[in-house]
Amino acid sequence: MADLLQQIKPKVASIISQDSFKTWIEPIKFSGYKEGIFSVVVPNEFFKDWVIKNFEPILLAIIKDTVGQDVKMEYITAKEEKNGDIKKDFVVKKSTYNLFNPKYTFETFVVGSCNQFANAACLAVATNPGKTYNPLFIYGGVGLGKTHLLNAIGNFLIKHSGVSPEHICYITAEVFTNELINSLKYSKMDEFRNRFRKMDVLLIDDIQFIAGKDRTQEEFFHTFNTLYDNMKQVVVTCDKFPRDLENIEERLRSRFEWGLIADIQPPDIETKVAILNKKAEIENIQLPLDVAFYIASRAENSVRSLEGALIRIGAYASLHNTPIDIKLASEVMGHIIKEKNKEITIESIIKEVSSYFNIKSSDIKSNKRTKSIMLTRQIAIYLARKLTDSSLVDIGNKFGGKDHSTIIHSIKKIEEEIKWKSDLKTIVEKIETKLKSI
Ligand code: ADP
Ligand code: MG
Repeated sequence: MADLLQQIKPKVASIISQDSFKTWIEPIKFSGYKEGIFSVVVPNEFFKDWVIKNFEPILLAIIKDTVGQDVKMEYITAKEEKNGDIKKDFVVKKSTYNLFNPKYTFETFVVGSCNQFANAACLAVATNPGKTYNPLFIYGGVGLGKTHLLNAIGNFLIKHSGVSPEHICYITAEVFTNELINSLKYSKMDEFRNRFRKMDVLLIDDIQFIAGKDRTQEEFFHTFNTLYDNMKQVVVTCDKFPRDLENIEERLRSRFEWGLIADIQPPDIETKVAILNKKAEIENIQLPLDVAFYIASRAENSVRSLEGALIRIGAYASLHNTPIDIKLASEVMGHIIKEKNKEITIESIIKEVSSYFNIKSSDIKSNKRTKSIMLTRQIAIYLARKLTDSSLVDIGNKFGGKDHSTIIHSIKKIEEEIKWKSDLKTIVEKIETKLKSI
């Protein structure tokens, strides 16, 4: 196993850019292998986060190809290795499974005018579950702190209230849906219902996911009613205002409006700076104020991308052992922008998808109709639509002159199937990640 890392590194090098390889893959060291867990040592926390976010799918796909079995990665920072914290890390991970993310608390949530109302509403609910605002409906764009706030409620309740952790449930609407499907499949609906209906607090994330899924909506409706009638707290997050949700039953949508609706807006520049300072403090990064302003004025609006920029800047500074200044920040951020603009073309998609499935590019463009070629072709068409600005006609032409209806059919088919087939979804996501990181 020890050479495994040496075997996979060249393969990774052939997929990602040389820069990325040098910075993020080269420094990884092998630590151990046990029961399907492949442990590696990485320089520090930022490094670890960055590798997980950007390269883990590639690493896992390549390891799987090399050893022929699924493997999980475990990251140990150099500091943990030195202090012999490895065992502790394993235990902590296992025991916190399914609980709340300890990083997402009210203390670490920066309040500005963009999220003041949502923050206050969540705090009120956490202090007095079921008694103030029920349901509480939080909506806002991607990466603005909805999941953070739900976890903050959970963490607060566990620390400060008598509600037992088994009676607090955080679940994404996607997992709720998948578990419902499994319970139906294995005739375990009673168990499924009881599990949710005995909760004192139900925190459900990204409810927009149940749009168009009638059976899930019906089940959630009954769960909601039971909890509501018993004055149990329900908190829902969503990417839209309830009225703007399409394909959601009216009776459910109106229930979302029974309690309090609070929005989260993108942060203004002062809030962005405050968030950066807070994160820097937590992550132990020395961030001068002028650099914080520099990042805040250039990063995109979501807090997640602010965080990404900071982590990357922190990682560069720590790897190169230099202090953070505007020059360094501009170099690293210039890199981010360059990477973001790097164009994904239909050709690169066809190449990536065909190599993933080991099928010739020319077969994808042909009219061959064997199952594997058709599926590969449909995935490539779906990705072409999703990741490029090409029109349906352009896509048809690039795929060997397919007509408009074939293209639409392929896109629809994959769109539908990834909702239900989690393996397919994982594969499509893996290819997408690869395309984005090249
Ligand atoms: P959403 O669920 O709305 O897509 P998240 O809750 O996952 O967004 O937030 C994305 C990242 O930004 C998280 O790491 C979160 O901690 C951070 N974040 C968002 N808003 C704030 C804030 N006001 N203060 C501190 N961190 C924040
Ligand atoms: Mg979220």
